[in-house]
Formats: sequence, structure tokens, C-alpha cells
Amino acid sequence: MLEIKNLHARIAEDGTEILRGVDLKVNAGEVHAIMGPNGSGKSTLSYILAGKSDYEVTEGEIIFHGENLLELEPDERAAAGVFLAFQYPIEIPGVATMEFLKTAMNAQRKAKGQAQLSIPDFMKLVKEKSKDLNVSMDMLKRPLNVGFSGGEKKRAEILQMSLLEPSLCVLDETDSGLDIDALRIVSEGVNKLRSPERAMVVITHYQRLLDHIIPDVVHVLSKGRIVKTGGKELALELEKNGYADYIEAA
Ligand code: ADP
Ligand code: MG
Ligand code: MG
Repeated sequence: MLEIKNLHARIAEDGTEILRGVDLKVNAGEVHAIMGPNGSGKSTLSYILAGKSDYEVTEGEIIFHGENLLELEPDERAAAGVFLAFQYPIEIPGVATMEFLKTAMNAQRKAKGQAQLSIPDFMKLVKEKSKDLNVSMDMLKRPLNVGFSGGEKKRAEILQMSLLEPSLCVLDETDSGLDIDALRIVSEGVNKLRSPERAMVVITHYQRLLDHIIPDVVHVLSKGRIVKTGGKELALELEKNGYADYIEAA
């Protein structure tokens, strides 16, 4: 589904190289975790997948469903089935969460040539998915992410993800700022979306998220390169020994 080959990328503004030859292959149905120390380039990788303009790819390629992802605009990537849950979800004052979700769903449907959702159909869907994620009607009426707690922001992201039903979900530090109950709700929401047709890339600094979302493959990113790949036990080893060995190796 996703193949990243020798990806090099830098910050557009000052040319600092952040990714230095990332290789990653993710098949449909798989959940991959990307772990690594702070500043290793995890968020940069997710922004590049989403098509954020602050970064420039200088070498390598990203193939998604056989297509060159780097040639697609961010909205085209979303329409093609890429969803990114950001580490720091953006606040949109003046746009109710519900309205935002409806717009996002209809934009995706338009790009796919599907009819717009009627309000009753949308409401039915949103109510059903919100229930699982413990998102209240009150929260849906508030402007997106404005004044939301860490847990509310992450739940709103997973709600958006479950409504859009992407084929590739990239979750950047979805566990940051979550207490144990919110972590459980968010993880259950993510696990519900696991399917043979869908792949997930779960980025996390800590292993505790991976107690809830069990990965098939774990990678260590250090200084802009994947320096180690293993099974779920690799996350436990990192929890025990830290990243020091891998920082040296990079
Ligand atoms: P991680 O998510 O693994 O903590 P990031 O991808 O956020 O790492 O950052 C990697 C490195 O690139 C860090 O040193 C960070 O300060 C730097 N960096 C990332 N994005 C920018 C940016 N837009 N402007 C300046 N520096 C950046
Ligand atoms: Mg960081
Ligand atoms: Mg980050």
C-alpha cells in the first residue's frame, strides 16, 4: 500500500536536512509503529506524507497504491485515502466541530465523485461514531479544538478519522497528553478501524500506547533514518533500555 524509498527531506526555509534516507514498506492490514527520540524526524515524516509545504523532498519517493504520492496536493492525498492525526491538532475558531466534520466528509465525497451527505444521514453517522469515542453533543457544537483538553482533541481526531474511513492512517503521538482513560478510549477507536484493507502508521515516543494498539512491525527512527526494525517486542526493549544505543548507531 505504502512504499517510501530513500526519502531525503529538508526544511524549506533554511535547508536543514531532517530525513536522511528513510525506507519503509507498509502492506494493507498492517500496523507499523515508528518510535524514536525527540527530534529524530517523526513528525517531519508525517507532515511530508500529508503534503505540508514547510518541507522539501530532495531525494527518494513515496508510492501509495501504486501512485506517486508526492505529486498529489494535500487535498488530493486526503481524497486518495491518507489521513494524518497531528501531534498538535489545529484550532479552528468560528467553525463548530460538527460543521468541520461535515465539510471534511463532503469534500472527500466530492473528490470521489459521490453525492453530498444529507444532514440526517450525516447526523446519524456522527452520532453513532461519537458514542464510541465518548464525544458529547456539547463538544460537537464547540469550535474545533478551541479550549479542548488534550484528550478531547485526540478524540475529535479519531472521530474525524473514523468518519472519513481512510485507507492509510498516520497517527503522530496520539498518546501525548492523554490520561489512562482517554488513552483507552482513543486506542479502542483506533483498533476498531483496523482492517485487512487499511494500514496504520503509529508514531510514538513511548511504548505505553503500544500496549493498547499492538503493532505488527516496530521501527526505530533516529537522526532521520530507520536504524532498526523488529516485531512488537522491540518496543518493550526500547522501554527498558531507552534510545541511547540507536542514537549512537545513527
Ligand atoms: P520528532 O517528531 O521526532 O520529535 P520533528 O520531525 O518534529 O521530530 O523534528 C526533527 C528536527 O527538525 C528537530 O530538530 C526540529 O527542531 C526540526 N524541525 C522540524 N520542523 C521544523 C521547522 N518547520 N522549522 C525548523 N525546524 C524544524
Ligand atoms: Mg517531538
Ligand atoms: Mg513529533
